[in-house]
Amino acid sequence: MIRLIISEKPSVSAAVAYCIGATEKVSVEGNFYWRGNGYIVTNALGHLFGIGMPEDYGYKKWELTTLPIIPENFKLFPLDGYDDQIKMLSGLINRDDVSEVINACDAGREGECIFRYIYNYFGCTKPVKRLWISSLTDESIKHGMENLIEGYEKNSLYETGFTRAKADWILGMSLSRLYSILNDDSHKVGRVKTPVLNIIAERDKAISDFTKKPYFKVILDNGAECENIFDTVEKAEIIRAKCSGKTVAVISAKSENKIENRPLLHSLTSLQREANEVYGMTAADTLKAAQSLYEKKLITYPRTDSNFLSDDMKTLVESIVKCLSEYDEQRVTALLNSGLNIDNRVIDNSKISDHHAIIPTNLIGRLGVTLLNDNEKNVAELVINRFLCALDKPYRYTETQYEFSVEGVIFKLTVKRADEWGWKWYRKVTDSDDENVQPNISYFENATFTADNITVKPCETQPPKRFTESSLLAVMENIDRLIPDKDLKGFVKERGLGTPATRASIIEELIAAGYVQRKKKQLVSTEYGRAFAASLPENVKSAELTAHWEQALSDIENGTGSAADLLGEIIKTVTSIVTIECGRENRVRVTRKKLLGKCPRCGQPVVENNIGFACSTGREKCGFFIWGQDKRIGRKYTAAEISELLASGRVTLKNCVSSKGNKYSAFFELNDTGQYVNLKLVEFVGKKRGK
Ligand SMILES: [Zn+2]
Repeated sequence: MIRLIISEKPSVSAAVAYCIGATEKVSVEGNFYWRGNGYIVTNALGHLFGIGMPEDYGYKKWELTTLPIIPENFKLFPLDGYDDQIKMLSGLINRDDVSEVINACDAGREGECIFRYIYNYFGCTKPVKRLWISSLTDESIKHGMENLIEGYEKNSLYETGFTRAKADWILGMSLSRLYSILNDDSHKVGRVKTPVLNIIAERDKAISDFTKKPYFKVILDNGAECENIFDTVEKAEIIRAKCSGKTVAVISAKSENKIENRPLLHSLTSLQREANEVYGMTAADTLKAAQSLYEKKLITYPRTDSNFLSDDMKTLVESIVKCLSEYDEQRVTALLNSGLNIDNRVIDNSKISDHHAIIPTNLIGRLGVTLLNDNEKNVAELVINRFLCALDKPYRYTETQYEFSVEGVIFKLTVKRADEWGWKWYRKVTDSDDENVQPNISYFENATFTADNITVKPCETQPPKRFTESSLLAVMENIDRLIPDKDLKGFVKERGLGTPATRASIIEELIAAGYVQRKKKQLVSTEYGRAFAASLPENVKSAELTAHWEQALSDIENGTGSAADLLGEIIKTVTSIVTIECGRENRVRVTRKKLLGKCPRCGQPVVENNIGFACSTGREKCGFFIWGQDKRIGRKYTAAEISELLASGRVTLKNCVSSKGNKYSAFFELNDTGQYVNLKLVEFVGKKRGK
């Protein structure tokens, strides 16, 4: 009997096949699988099946009356372009001599769904085992194959993934159609992406609403600032004049030894943030590079939300550090000599769910001889650096707070002096705090000196900062970061939007939909995006509601929540949104469509749609409509041509091609029969048609 292994990608299949000795490559009509040693190893190509589109469930027409769209039973449909792979999988999974199927897809929600969709689509009933590993090194695969778990142990993970897909489908399909119909433009609404759009839009609005206020600081020669700030330059100048040339007394000098502990190991989100801050990389590019490094066996599984390792990894950590000596011999030697700092900031079993933090594997020594692109090199460097930093000593420094008095006016200065750099010597991101490191300044209490060169510094209050991918990811990881009140924060636990694995694609979808633009490192909402977010009711764009659903999903995964309850709640919410929005009057349409001119029938704007040019009041009311494509001219009308036609009733069309293939230009007039609208050819222009 043969065991069939199904992984997620060809590169993973090759690694697994090599490890278990299934080294014979068998070709099937252009595709191939691995065979040998009692195994067949094959793979999906990411998702091969999906739960379809509304059309697949009979919802062909885009009509308000069919909303919300809630299929009675969700079905699986093959995705386009994978026919050959699906055919080969079907043949293998149904082989009589295949007695057992091993799910070797990536160890997460999506990987579980990729496998189950295949298994369920073919109606397979053979026993299932699960390969659950966090890295693709030979040891890890061998250990995983020797310790396969039962397939049913991941049932709740699959239920979570499938529930997530169904919930997002019902909400996304229904509301995207709703707002597309209501706005007469193609709009995209999603459980996660719309709240994220709203977060960006609100921030941008706060920035444009912000008025800068000037204020003035009075500063001593040594950098000490007057404890008061002044709203006019005159008031600041009075203090300057009062103190200039007078005696400064050091009335207080309090020193404190402080430490700044090492950063935690990288989770996907923290890696994406650092790559954005240091290299300006997008979250999507970082995930792609990390996934590629994982498949090249250089780092561990990247789709993780954990910053910790398990306690059985302690010896592995030491061996990985030794593997890095070629990468940075001096640093690694120094680190090994001073002793690895493997404490509860590195190892904590209670803070690992599916996967541990992202670290280099013990094959990282191959880094120098592996062909990598720039993004992969950058990400590998960040993972290695964070790994070594986390094992290093804390940064120790002395912070001294000085208070000076001049003529009764108090000035304050904080001075930092590094005592032991520890991990901080290797930090990638420099924080603004470091600018205050001024080791040369030192005063004794009660000392005095003269106040020379006092300056008045003009300042302005600053608006909130635009989002970067890094700061947006931080908010998506924990929406409570949006709450400015620190006391309030303590009452709510961390609540996120989306999962680490999906956050990058959410940002990309918002950009693709035209709601958000990338401006260097910044993410800025477009006017269209802000108008759309502003037009939506609170429960479509509420970050709190989505975070609550995210929590419900993780409860299902942990076996403490019910999928039916969550789906029921989402259906109820979507249904009420549809009802309220369909009854709302005086809607301002949010559309990107350029207004081409006035409708000759009713005077309302004419806009371009997918098939032509229509009066914006809609087909039922006015009905003015010109088909975009015209066989007589061998092409579509351009928006500029229709604009001219609407303005003057006539237009010259150039670059026309007749059905016989002759090029021509001609003069057309608008012809409205009252029922149909078309363009009437009046006369040819320039060279005559034919011959
Ligand atoms: Zn009209």
